[in-house]
Amino acid sequence: MINITSLILTLGVVSICYGAYTERVLLISMDGFRYDYLDTISNLTNFGYMKSTGTHAPYINNTFITLTFPTHYSMSTGLYSESNGMVSNYMFDPLDNTSFGMGNVEPKWWDGGEPIWTTVMKQNKTSATFFWPGSDVPIHGVLPKYYFPYNKTIPFDDRIDTAVNWLKEGINFATLYFNEPDKQGHDFGPESNEVIEAVKYMDEIMGKILDKLRQNDLLDSTNIILVSDHGMAYTNRSMNIDLSKYVNISTHIEKIANYGAAMNFIPKAGMEDAVYNILKDAHPKMTAYKKEDIPEEWHYKNHHRILPMLLVCDEGWQVVPDESWIRNVLGMHGWDNNLMSMKPFFIARGPNIKEDFVAEPFKSVDLYPLMTELLGLNPAPNNGTLEIVKSFLKDNPEMTSVTATPQLATTQSSSSKIMTETYSVVFVATTLLLL
Ligand SMILES: [Zn+2]
Repeated sequence: MINITSLILTLGVVSICYGAYTERVLLISMDGFRYDYLDTISNLTNFGYMKSTGTHAPYINNTFITLTFPTHYSMSTGLYSESNGMVSNYMFDPLDNTSFGMGNVEPKWWDGGEPIWTTVMKQNKTSATFFWPGSDVPIHGVLPKYYFPYNKTIPFDDRIDTAVNWLKEGINFATLYFNEPDKQGHDFGPESNEVIEAVKYMDEIMGKILDKLRQNDLLDSTNIILVSDHGMAYTNRSMNIDLSKYVNISTHIEKIANYGAAMNFIPKAGMEDAVYNILKDAHPKMTAYKKEDIPEEWHYKNHHRILPMLLVCDEGWQVVPDESWIRNVLGMHGWDNNLMSMKPFFIARGPNIKEDFVAEPFKSVDLYPLMTELLGLNPAPNNGTLEIVKSFLKDNPEMTSVTATPQLATTQSSSSKIMTETYSVVFVATTLLLL
């Protein structure tokens, strides 16, 4: 009897802790919003309101490779790319010779992690997503209560109206995704007037979100987390490295998975060392890594979808299979996540977030445990920590999360298995989508 009573008392304490949060989160991504746009562009009234009534960080530390799908999936799962397996926007899986491109909704590409909207549903709360990479895929067999396949033509206003209606209905967790200022950044470069206008437009969009929440009496009960996936750096046609000038693509290379700021490929069987020796000193703006020598700090090594050879360019430079693959853009991302130009912004606001507070920069993988904390959920194993993010939780209620346990990467595939098959070079990337 005494034991049961103490158990009830204990459960009561836990429930009080959970009750410290409103358990309502709206996660918003504005693609390609570099951290310093907030400081260099003036008259951003609504972002200013978010900052003065909430918490912001000077920047956040995102994950390598700084491309849209991997960085978004690291935020939503709390896992580095080598742990969740979303290693690029375009991938090749040597275990079953299959290819991935953005828009692929086969669960096998996504099941290496558990995104926040899945955690929500599995723990008997509700999630709904108006876009986010992977949110329209039955990950571990689970989908959000409401979701849409990605369609960039849906007006931003419609997305806002729908998401706020979801929250009004009682949904615990909702996402919004906007593909700006990324698009203007690619087309015109990060320092362009077009980017300034796009950021001002996104400030208006932020204003509409705040107004709509206010009109529906949701502003004071919703924790808003506003993030981006990566920054943007200047590039141009002359900053492309033509791989075909150094190696014979058809005789040296088996498979190229992706190209741009970085290129990941499989050399022909028996040519691994020869190809590496050619490329290691081929161009002063490009570094060649054998898979086993990829720097540990990128957490971009221990997964079978990371292919045996990785080329990484210096900021602004890109590597292409040949000149026909050069893209006419003035802005790009994908480079080393340590470069300041690749870092995104962060602002959060809501009943459980400190007002007018500046947080230390933290890792994008910390967002997952932050969100499970705010939603009163047990996090799935992840690479994040509450260490820094707890500093901006109001009243700092006792942390209820289970200690995060880093998830180790899956087993590497044997390169001999990869090399036994012969097939012509087929690029996974067949379109010019630049997300
Ligand atoms: Zn992006």
